[in-house]
Amino acid sequence: MIFDKNNVGAGCGSVEAGGVVFGGNRLVLIAGPCTVESREQMLEIACAVKEAGATMLRGGAFKPRSSPYAFQGLCEKGLDILAEARTRTGLPVVTEVLETAHLPTVAAIADMVQVGSRNMHNSVLLRAVGACGKPVLLKRGMCATIQEYLLAAEYVLDAGTRQVVLCERGIRTFETATRFTLDLSAVPLLKERTWLPVIVDPSHGTGLASLVPAMSRAAVACGADGVMMEVHGHPEQALCDGEQSETPEMFYRVVRELRAIAEAVGRTV
Ligand code: PEP
Ligand code: MN
Repeated sequence: MIFDKNNVGAGCGSVEAGGVVFGGNRLVLIAGPCTVESREQMLEIACAVKEAGATMLRGGAFKPRSSPYAFQGLCEKGLDILAEARTRTGLPVVTEVLETAHLPTVAAIADMVQVGSRNMHNSVLLRAVGACGKPVLLKRGMCATIQEYLLAAEYVLDAGTRQVVLCERGIRTFETATRFTLDLSAVPLLKERTWLPVIVDPSHGTGLASLVPAMSRAAVACGADGVMMEVHGHPEQALCDGEQSETPEMFYRVVRELRAIAEAVGRTV
């Protein structure tokens, strides 16, 4: 296995995306809305999260929605807006690719290409992103075991890249009080088994904005290399995932809290 920690020399243990390093001493804080909704919305939130301490910007242009009737994203226009937000803030951009046909367009703009939970089993897409020349953020399938997740990462790596970051984003269990069950044990376990950086997405992992600060702190405490959080200027008006989105003020508070936790575990923010 290419990801195996015993596979000496195979990996470097850190991944660079648009000047940001995953797996170094400094934690990566990815923030932004679930979805790019408009130019005004994206530019406003991009500046706000930069100000609050984000080191990378997120925002979906091509959205994987459970319902075919839900807003599917601004697509290419969304990518152009993300590029403008990067120019404004200096923050590198991560955004999801839904299908292989879109990959050249997405990879041309993104600093990091995200494969979402619903596509983790799409081996054709996994091979394609592994060959696209951009670092890959591979989210855990919501029903994937650790072994299945690692094999998905193996598909990406087998395509010739070493630039893969894992993201625990919650798994489906019998619990319905939260949207998913955030499996934080995955963080130290993945770090035991691989040399790949691991980050945590407590927004999708809980589905509840009020739980995100505590689970972000827990993620850093258990060794995550970063956190990805949904932040929206007006969560109550968000077209997607407003109930799990922090306001910029909440995000600013979380960053301050993470600074203290990071120091306790020998990292920096
Ligand atoms: C996302 O991060 O935008 C997203 C859709 O997350 P997931 O694939 O984990 O559901
Ligand atoms: Mn979302």
